[in-house]
Amino acid sequence: MKTVRDLAQLLEAAAPLAYQESYDNAGLQCGLPEAEITSVLVSLDCTPAVVAEAVRRGCNVVLCHHPVIFRPLKRLTGKGLVEQTIMAALKNDVAIYAAHTNLDNVRAGVNARLAAKLGLVNTRILAPQTGTLARLSTYVPARPADAGLPERVLAALYAAGAGRVGDYRDCSFQTPGTGSFTPGDGTRPAIGAQNQPETLAEIKLEVVLPLHRQAAVLAALRQAHPYEEVAYELVRLENQHQDVGAGLVGELPAPLAPAAFRQLLKATLGVPLVRHTAFAGDIRKVALCGGAGSFLTSAAVAAGADAFVTSDVKYHEFFAPEGRLLLCDVGHFESEQFTGEIFRDLLLAGFGRTFAVLFAKTSTNPVHYDC
Ligand SMILES: [Zn+2]
Repeated sequence: MKTVRDLAQLLEAAAPLAYQESYDNAGLQCGLPEAEITSVLVSLDCTPAVVAEAVRRGCNVVLCHHPVIFRPLKRLTGKGLVEQTIMAALKNDVAIYAAHTNLDNVRAGVNARLAAKLGLVNTRILAPQTGTLARLSTYVPARPADAGLPERVLAALYAAGAGRVGDYRDCSFQTPGTGSFTPGDGTRPAIGAQNQPETLAEIKLEVVLPLHRQAAVLAALRQAHPYEEVAYELVRLENQHQDVGAGLVGELPAPLAPAAFRQLLKATLGVPLVRHTAFAGDIRKVALCGGAGSFLTSAAVAAGADAFVTSDVKYHEFFAPEGRLLLCDVGHFESEQFTGEIFRDLLLAGFGRTFAVLFAKTSTNPVHYDC
């Protein structure tokens, strides 16, 4: 039997909470982590109607994209949709879990799913995050008796999440050198003796790691390293994290005229209309950002995109491309409508094909089209 905690761990392994935007509140919204899951109802939003559907269909977890709670609640009196949703969930023992901008910002997240639906290839993150990576340096003895030790330490670091650069794993750098130390009173040195100066051949190992894996990587280092006092340095990097960030850019297999591209959007997303700017050229390179993504318009232009697909574009924001790309507003709900498929795929891959995941039948899109 899987618990709400198991579900949180599974989702956060794929979309770490550390990658959410500063304004966000992804994660468990309400419910007990130790509660055993009957079935999971997947929805883009969680409203009282979605909680009611969960109860009706025997689900005690609602897994949604948009968090219910954004601002701290001071009281629960049933005022407004947020309080009503939380109260309905608590009353019926339904847990609510949201994976929001953390799922937007990972390589295999909301934007990748949308890109796949549109048939984009050669995709990469449009605006990679910075400040999420660190470099770990450590020193292991390199005497003949220590053969294989650097490899064992590195293997432990890799297993804990270090050593990944883009699509490459097990990345490290090794430098031979000479280390020195004098074990003090009360020490139990692996090499040498108390108060005896020691000099020996060592290898400096360096790996990169995502900052949110810091505790796990350091624990793995201490576990695998023979020294009583493990020497290491951890340095925060300014590098971009190529697998984490906002938006995605990729290419259509063949260029399309703007009208044909908009037709592709309408057919793929099931929208009756697309609000868009004027653009003269063909569409080959496409940037996209599910949800409200107009803040990425200049990044899309800089990436050389011919089109930028997003939602919630305001009147004045339509001026920004200045004819350099086709800016398309396809609707917020519509741009994120495939998120449920990501949840289903993650749960079935993590918990087994027989795990019960149901798609909500309640439509939560508050926007309707009269055309
Ligand atoms: Zn959204």
